[in-house]
Amino acid sequence: MSLMGTPILILKEGTQRTTGADARKNNIAAARAIAEAIRTALGPRGMDKMLVDNIGDVVITNDGKTILDEIEVQHPAAKMMVQVAKAQDNIAGDGTTSAVVLAGELLKKADELITQKIHPTIVINGFRKAYDEALKILDEIAIPLTIKEREKLEYIAMTSMNSKIVGGDREKLAKMAVDAVLQILEERDGKYVADIDKVQVIKKAGASISDSQYIAGVIIDKEVVHADMPKLIRDAKIALLDTPFEIEKTEFDAEIRITDPTQITAFKEKEENILREMIEKISNVGANVVFCQKGIDDRAQHFLAKKGILAVRRVKKSDMEKLARATGGRIVTNLDSLTSGDLGHAEAVEERKIANDKMVFVTGCKDPKSVSVLLRGGTERIVDEAERAFHDALCVVRNAVEDGYFVAGGGAPEVEVARRLLEFSQKFAGKEQLAIKAFAEALLVIPKTLAENAGIDTVEILGKLMAEHEKGKVWAGVDIYNEKVADMLKLNILEPLRTKKQAIKSAYEAASMIIRIDDVIAAKRETPKPPSGGPGGEGGEYGAPPM
Ligand code: ADP
Ligand code: MG
Repeated sequence: MSLMGTPILILKEGTQRTTGADARKNNIAAARAIAEAIRTALGPRGMDKMLVDNIGDVVITNDGKTILDEIEVQHPAAKMMVQVAKAQDNIAGDGTTSAVVLAGELLKKADELITQKIHPTIVINGFRKAYDEALKILDEIAIPLTIKEREKLEYIAMTSMNSKIVGGDREKLAKMAVDAVLQILEERDGKYVADIDKVQVIKKAGASISDSQYIAGVIIDKEVVHADMPKLIRDAKIALLDTPFEIEKTEFDAEIRITDPTQITAFKEKEENILREMIEKISNVGANVVFCQKGIDDRAQHFLAKKGILAVRRVKKSDMEKLARATGGRIVTNLDSLTSGDLGHAEAVEERKIANDKMVFVTGCKDPKSVSVLLRGGTERIVDEAERAFHDALCVVRNAVEDGYFVAGGGAPEVEVARRLLEFSQKFAGKEQLAIKAFAEALLVIPKTLAENAGIDTVEILGKLMAEHEKGKVWAGVDIYNEKVADMLKLNILEPLRTKKQAIKSAYEAASMIIRIDDVIAAKRETPKPPSGGPGGEGGEYGAPPM
């Protein structure tokens, strides 16, 4: 900016500013670079990524969100794409790769339109109309689902795991995911709510994934506190205590002056009696299992063992809460107030050895609102990937039961929405129509990428797909194993409606946000300069996409 030749500085020295078309182009390029980087991971035949962090730890995954979590992205517009994946993951738990790939394609289309001198505002308006319509179309084609349709739910879970490294065990994992979600499902105001935080997932390497277990109850990652205690209690009556079984040491030195050795014995006896009374109390109310949030000292352990009570100490608060929910017991802080009504129930409490660790399984709870899944796998890395896959499975089953709708996958819904959007665009004139069409075409990136990653000729298959949909075959999609167009509903490639809607939403929001930016004002980085002092590092921090 200058006035009569004198520059007026309104920004701090060192601030970088790019405006207008340049700023937009840079942002779009950077965001698209992210989409390009993960598009090869889309779908069951997508490739895996090996990510190495700055201390050399390796993660091998096919999970879009994990990939974006691990790579460090510099460019602000690229960071917005990472946010797309996060948003998608938070709300839907699956569909992260799709959302990012779609956002990249929307940006590509927008870039083309803007290059043809269509104003960004018109592009955004057209996209908005197309987006609203797309959601409506999805609602129209979605198929209702009840929680009784267990098989469908399992297929939904399996579809989400098709693309995972651990996909070979997806049947087992899908069954466990459906078991877990149906168990914790609650009805509130006539609506189903599945809080998947109530599904506790415990990972242990050292066995195959097929050895994983679903437990209608709680697993406590602690061992029974004393060797003489029983390792299995059937028909368990469980006391949940948040009070220590130990005598505080400080009482010893302060108040008591000991003049005679017998006094020590007497004192110790008194202490022991206190502990003995505590244990007596527990036994009298009928408890045969104790979970204690605090410590249990040696003598108390001994007395408990003598009474045949199984006890676990220093149980995490969150685990205590799970135990309370699952067994119907109440956490008691003052032992004097403990009654038989506070006790929880379970068919069995048992210590089992898993890999090299002992854990306590609380099973056969009457109406457990907390359930557990013990995930096994050959190595840590496999168990980690199994956990990511299982998380997606839990999310899609939750989405399906909470909303009560599903669609088929394999690109079918995207093609159907694109086809109807192209029709819809006819209602509009000129540039707006072009923007709506561009949005429709962008959706085709999903079937296209699924095919591409499977090594299928994309031009041919897209043509066939469109033709099938014109004939009214709503669920015609890419059969990536037989490399042809097929009915995805018949193949049981099923996805919750929520995942699909949210992927379009996340992508639309990110794309329109990025298109709207026409001015990038970046403060000077406060990081210390490298000592060399050479001319390197010029040319604009945000000038080029990363990677
Ligand atoms: P995202 O992170 O988007 O969930 P995925 O790698 O899980 O990415 O791929 C999801 C896509 O793969 C969805 O469009 C889904 O319908 C599709 N898909 C899953 N299984 C199959 C299959 N057997 N055949 C064709 N498409 C499939
Ligand atoms: Mg997925």
